Amino acid sequence: MSDPDAQPARSAGPLRWANEQRVLDVLRQPGDGDGQDGHVPHTQADIARATGLARATVSNIVRDLSARGLVEAKAGAGRRGSSVRLSGSVGVVLGVDFGHSHLSVAVGDLTGNVITEERHAVRSPLPPLDALRRAREIAEHLHPDLSEVRTIGLGLPAPVIHDTIGTPAIFPGWDDVDARSLASSVFGVPALVENDANLGALAEHRAGVARGARHAVFVKVSSGVGAGLILDDRVFHGAHGTAGEIGHLTLDDQGPLCRCGSRGCLEAYSSTTVVTEMLADQLPGAGFDDVVEAAEGGNGAARRALEDAGLHLGWAIATIVNLINPEIVIIGGELAKAGDHLLEPARVGLRRHALDSATSTPLRASEFGERASLVGAVLLASDGTDLRAPA
Ligand SMILES: [Zn+2]
Repeated sequence: MSDPDAQPARSAGPLRWANEQRVLDVLRQPGDGDGQDGHVPHTQADIARATGLARATVSNIVRDLSARGLVEAKAGAGRRGSSVRLSGSVGVVLGVDFGHSHLSVAVGDLTGNVITEERHAVRSPLPPLDALRRAREIAEHLHPDLSEVRTIGLGLPAPVIHDTIGTPAIFPGWDDVDARSLASSVFGVPALVENDANLGALAEHRAGVARGARHAVFVKVSSGVGAGLILDDRVFHGAHGTAGEIGHLTLDDQGPLCRCGSRGCLEAYSSTTVVTEMLADQLPGAGFDDVVEAAEGGNGAARRALEDAGLHLGWAIATIVNLINPEIVIIGGELAKAGDHLLEPARVGLRRHALDSATSTPLRASEFGERASLVGAVLLASDGTDLRAPA
């Protein structure tokens, strides 16, 4: 094996390229001693330790990346060498999250931190081109110089197969649209597309309550239910990208009719739509926020409806926990706004149906709440940006 340190500093060979990539990958992560803020710089000593490269090699690479404007190095006073961070001039990324009733846009840096964001309510899903143009207007408002945008990460509330929603009627208007090409043409930069629950899982795993967990499950419960699976520290997509589509897991084949045509699916018990419809007589015209407020205020019907949704959710989660044995399960999406009115019965349902060894699996609320998929979209975009490609 050749010694990486034997490479001359200005060699553009594949090994040098790979070593540069390792240094840049470290610089995308939070610096030593904090872990909260991606802006915390790394010392050259940290980089050497994290990459396994010799200090002299790191020093050469940093000097070279610095000359190319990709990193900023400041001479350090301490014995650990100069501090290094990604340069601000490497540009920004955009995260965009489309839902049935919202459109969110965030500007982030190349370490995946959200710099600024906006969330807008929509009455119904906008047609793809309108939605993307609207997102572009919002992005321009947030960050007027769109020429600095390197990559856009886009979240969609349906299974994404080859950058396209292939399941009819889940997100109306988007069937068979190549969302990646369309987003790329509207923004004029490379785009990446991902299912919104997978993005929530990415966000919680990288920066939220699942940080440090190698295996984690993020369950997004809004008008539908989907899960994002983190296995061995990576989002698991399955053969065709539909892993984690648990909304139509059958809990009772004699149960209520589901919008998919089957009976007794998880979604037929646990969704914002089902909960509000269940309360149509007791709380006429109430939206989900009104239901949560009523439950907080002690309304028995609202509490029972949330308890029922939570119990069924817990039963479904027990199946996933038995199947993949995650270290943590995170509940996100709009239904999670109900907090312990939902989570406590879900924990009861989980304990009832999980294997003894899995009953201790923690079930927590999402750290990012309704922002989880947007935070994940920024991470998707920053992870997918080749820093060395021309800005
Ligand atoms: Zn169904």
